[in-house]
Amino acid sequence: MLDSHLHADSRSFEDYRAMAVSGISIAITCAYYPYKLTNSTSLLDHFNRIKDFETERAAKNGLDLKVALGIHPSNILNDHDIVLERIKDLIHNKEIIAIGEIGLDKNTLQECEIFKKQLEIADTENFKVIVHTPRKNKFETLKRIKEILLENINPKLVTIDHINLNVIDEVIDEKYQLGITVQPEKMEIDEAIAIFDNYGFDNKMLNSDVSYMRSDILSVPKTVNELKIREYNEKDIAKVSYQNAMNFYGIK
Ligand SMILES: [Zn+2]
Repeated sequence: MLDSHLHADSRSFEDYRAMAVSGISIAITCAYYPYKLTNSTSLLDHFNRIKDFETERAAKNGLDLKVALGIHPSNILNDHDIVLERIKDLIHNKEIIAIGEIGLDKNTLQECEIFKKQLEIADTENFKVIVHTPRKNKFETLKRIKEILLENINPKLVTIDHINLNVIDEVIDEKYQLGITVQPEKMEIDEAIAIFDNYGFDNKMLNSDVSYMRSDILSVPKTVNELKIREYNEKDIAKVSYQNAMNFYGIK
């Protein structure tokens, strides 16, 4: 299995082990720092930690950790240009598979500006992006995200994450990949399965988005297990829990 979006640096050595034991072989960790950052040096240290230290911690537990680096809308800094320059260099590392997570949270002008700049880098470099959508005002913010994506990037490079039943009609006919986050207080397993029932298994990838807040490191294996119990097609289950993400990110 593959967990397509999480924040591995928030988790313990034992959590890595439990994920691997439960059948997750690959996970994609996204940059996000949960507390106020002083300047670009702090955020770049966070990038280095994920890229070097967390991938090693994961490997010690049998988990292949891939990395997405970017400026999360909650981590915008006054000297963000230094970070953008560093991102341009870092994406040439083989373990970096996307710019992420980026996007809008409170939909401010500054968030939009930094989001656009990162999309421009990805579009120029033909590199994938992982786009965050917020819990609050999800529908309105997603509309703005779509406008910005349309103007700034090839849609085939984009995963829009944390899509739920309330907003999926807004994006289902586009060329984007959709992240389906199963998480306590965000989306239950039944809602994820309802999405697959109504909108199919193509272009969708399951994830846990585990972080510092209440979340479940096993939400992908639990969803897969429920799909198996309900006798869904093995190939369809593999698509949303492994193959779609492997294909999209070109993971070998
Ligand atoms: Zn996240």
